[in-house]
Amino acid sequence: MLNIVLFGAPGAGKGTQAKKLVEKFHLAHLSTGDLLRGEIAASTDLGKLAAETINRGELAPDGMVIAMIAVYIDKAANASGFIFDGFPRTSLQAIALDRMLEERSMKVSGMFALEVENDELIHRLQLRGKISGRMDDQSTEIIEHRIKVYHKKTEPIIHYYSAQGKYFPVQGQGAEDEVFARLNEAIFKIWRSQISS
Ligand code: ADP
Repeated sequence: MLNIVLFGAPGAGKGTQAKKLVEKFHLAHLSTGDLLRGEIAASTDLGKLAAETINRGELAPDGMVIAMIAVYIDKAANASGFIFDGFPRTSLQAIALDRMLEERSMKVSGMFALEVENDELIHRLQLRGKISGRMDDQSTEIIEHRIKVYHKKTEPIIHYYSAQGKYFPVQGQGAEDEVFARLNEAIFKIWRSQISS
């Protein structure tokens, strides 16, 4: 089973690359951002709670996101693996994911981190805001705040995975296909070592 954590700052290209990986490896794609936006669009209680924090560029509460992801892991119980996109985003979420997977006799195969410089992230999110209509992509102030939150609360998770020998940085700048090729190479290495072990 291949369980991938696709990691990176807002605008690093996680969603774009996740779609390509799903086609190639036939994994279930769990994006907490997409799931939360789905809740907001459906005006559920959870969505109403989430909207306020997301639109300010803050993270949704850990408990909410962890409970939500558990439900979707179980919904896709027959999948041959998962791509976790935008999750975990805090140390608490990383620990919770390991526990959740362990309870289901699974584990994270690797955390693949798309590395993109701050200026490029801001540029990409400003562009996306023009076409996506996403509230959190509309103002440069909120975009910059999300990147700050990433460096403060999310980036430290790298140490958590690197201590387990599961951290694999991937250069996220350049054309989409070039990034995909680099990501593929890194994932294939892990996949091969999993098969031979
Ligand atoms: P991006 O990577 O561009 O920020 P996402 O779609 O992954 O886009 O996330 C959008 C927003 O949803 C985040 O800024 C955050 O408010 C919320 N969110 C997504 N995933 C999580 C998570 N794992 N924990 C807390 N909040 C989350």
